[in-house]
Amino acid sequence: MKITEMLLTNVNSRPKKKIVPKGVVIHWTANEGSGANAVANRNYFNRPTTVASAHYIVDDKQIIRCLPEDEMGYHVGAQTYSQAALNKLSTYPNNCTIGIEMCVNADGSFAKMYEQTVALAADILKRHGWGVEHLWRHYDITGKNCPAFFVVNTTAQTYTGMPAKDAWAKFQQDVHRFLTVYPQKPQPDVDKCAVELTLTSTGKLINDVSYVPIRMIVEAVGGAVEWEPSTQKVTVNGQEVSYVNDQGTAFAKTRELAALLGLQVEWDEPRKAVVLKK
Ligand SMILES: [Zn+2]
Repeated sequence: MKITEMLLTNVNSRPKKKIVPKGVVIHWTANEGSGANAVANRNYFNRPTTVASAHYIVDDKQIIRCLPEDEMGYHVGAQTYSQAALNKLSTYPNNCTIGIEMCVNADGSFAKMYEQTVALAADILKRHGWGVEHLWRHYDITGKNCPAFFVVNTTAQTYTGMPAKDAWAKFQQDVHRFLTVYPQKPQPDVDKCAVELTLTSTGKLINDVSYVPIRMIVEAVGGAVEWEPSTQKVTVNGQEVSYVNDQGTAFAKTRELAALLGLQVEWDEPRKAVVLKK
């Protein structure tokens, strides 16, 4: 298991408030669209207009860490909370829980995403000295149908082939088995990464040079992008960047933009992804 750390820079999703976690909350993204993978969800959390976050997002290929486990996220807020949550967590469970989002994008494998989530949940429980009784569904805390494949029977049947109650019980058993059978490392492998994208869907190749959409990348790493209509100039963190306009979206050369943002560029051939690292 490897964690890719792409910490949020959006202050509306990451208030940088320290917490002492008491449990892990399991969610689903509820987005079955193709491409709604872990990176896409992480970049959504990082948009300045988004006020939502979770500590981890898991798809079939990656586990992304958006927040340190000892910082508060906004994943389980509601008007009212269950008695169990009030008793065992707090009157505002965001302030004592670690959130995991499970992706259900159509172009990913549910089974692999599930396996990765089991491994991650076991890793977190182990590091905190907890058993599976510290696992919560979002539903258990607020009554929301999340994750639907562990709450709603029809959705559970579609994804897991069993009733929701059994699917949730099996998840807990799988985590428990992982905890007890596999030796856990004291710390997981963490690959620090600023942003990445799939070139085929998000970026483009022009004469064998890779280009990426400026605003998306700059927002993903928390920089400032400005467009001056009178001069048609684009600046990133106050520095002008050359760009090509493709149907209203400004693209810059990946290497030029990365240099402006102080990031290293790597190419992940198996996944056809551009990875920008700090
Ligand atoms: Zn949820």
